[in-house]
Amino acid sequence: MKAVGFHEHGGLDKLVTLEVPPPAVCDHDVLVKVQACALNHLDLWVREGLPGLKLQMPHIPGCDVAGEVVEVGGKVAYPPKGTRVAVNPGRWCGTCEWCVRGEHPLCPEYKIMGEHTPGGYAEYVSVPAANCVELPTDFDYVQAAAAPLVFQTAWRALITRAEIRPGEDVLILGAGSGVSTAAIQIAKLAGCTVYVTSSSDEKLRRAKEIGADVLINHRQMEFDKAVWELTGKRGVDVVLEHVGEATFERSFRALAKGGRLVFVGATTGPAAKFDLRRGFWRQVNLLGSTMGSQAEFEEVMGLVLRRRLNPVVDRTFPLEKTREAQERLAKGEQFGKIVLTMG
Ligand SMILES: [Zn+2]
Repeated sequence: MKAVGFHEHGGLDKLVTLEVPPPAVCDHDVLVKVQACALNHLDLWVREGLPGLKLQMPHIPGCDVAGEVVEVGGKVAYPPKGTRVAVNPGRWCGTCEWCVRGEHPLCPEYKIMGEHTPGGYAEYVSVPAANCVELPTDFDYVQAAAAPLVFQTAWRALITRAEIRPGEDVLILGAGSGVSTAAIQIAKLAGCTVYVTSSSDEKLRRAKEIGADVLINHRQMEFDKAVWELTGKRGVDVVLEHVGEATFERSFRALAKGGRLVFVGATTGPAAKFDLRRGFWRQVNLLGSTMGSQAEFEEVMGLVLRRRLNPVVDRTFPLEKTREAQERLAKGEQFGKIVLTMG
């Protein structure tokens, strides 16, 4: 089959077209003919190399897949051949204490398709049958591929971890990212007032179209100061943080008393700084979160498939243009998800 991947870690120039055998289909797996595969920042880090990540080369990235089931393993009762599906990229053991509790992202064996295992920049990918959700016949593959990773991440962070409630003020950093475009809609659906930040007025305008209430251009004013002014020195109840080192202290300072800072990423670096005294005096909560359980995935995908939440697609590229697609993501030019299509 045709695929795009790399033989060694490095820059964009390491991405090459591969001709490799289609993956084997184990008893509990299905073979999906990939129709669309969304990009994630993770794809860039996997290409560049992550500490402790040892890959079998050549490696095929790609976490977010939608396509058609074309072959099923010996023990698969569902989904049958011909089903149109989107796939949860998480993998877990199913038997440890965390899996038994349904806390799949805490499984010591937790893996992400495309990071630790061959992913969706390919004509075919083999996935656990249990990770598939069926798409309605009129649901677009590109839209479906744009949802799994970022919607489960935003759902677990805001609903399960931060427990957002109607009427609360929720600040979401970086209006244009995939997680943010999911989080804005989830917070809005939950009845919150949504604050977003960006350095781009155009991205803020688009964030407003999908539900953001209060727009903060952090080139004009630091966002923590802006929040302070806009809330009458109260702060926001919840901050969704995925930027990391560059913003964490300001996110911390933007919190109301008793507020919750939920963090799901560290794009600009891992070393966060904040004032402990401010933290205990104002009794704030720091909540780590990553990915989602199968139950969370199915819950949020149910809302996506019923069009209560709408994946935002920035642009599509054919598989042959994967380098250009990753370059656009690396530059941060996108609003929403960049999606590869197989044609
Ligand atoms: Zn487990």
